[in-house]
Amino acid sequence: MSLANCQRCGKVFMRIKNPLCPDCQRAEDELYDKVVEYLKENPGATVAEVATALDVDVSIINKFVRTGRLAPVNPTWQARCNRCGIPISSGELCEQCRLQLASELSKELANKKEEKKERPYRKGDKIYLIDRVRQK
Ligand SMILES: [Zn+2]
Ligand SMILES: [Zn+2]
Repeated sequence: MSLANCQRCGKVFMRIKNPLCPDCQRAEDELYDKVVEYLKENPGATVAEVATALDVDVSIINKFVRTGRLAPVNPTWQARCNRCGIPISSGELCEQCRLQLASELSKELANKKEEKKERPYRKGDKIYLIDRVRQK
């Protein structure tokens, strides 16, 4: 911990990790929430659009992107399902595709079990030569 100047307002504060003083950090967090809200309502908005709509500097939005708080700008802000392409909030698949994939997977597993059942002999099974059985 040491004294440092806030990167945003220049105020001296006790720095732990953050380059911003608590006031500015709070302001940025609030701004971040606003950006998230805006993007929920306007998926696919560009950085410039968001900055204009919220009346903030483009560099602040860029900073959120750079620090990983927002998804990269291009091609869209919104994550999309790998399978059907509908917008999703996180992950790689939408709920529906996840469920579908899971049921397909369990069907496949069931099929494999069936195959095992149909296999005629196991190592421990007794087998007889066919001609001996016939002879009897
Ligand atoms: Zn500050
Ligand atoms: Zn999907």
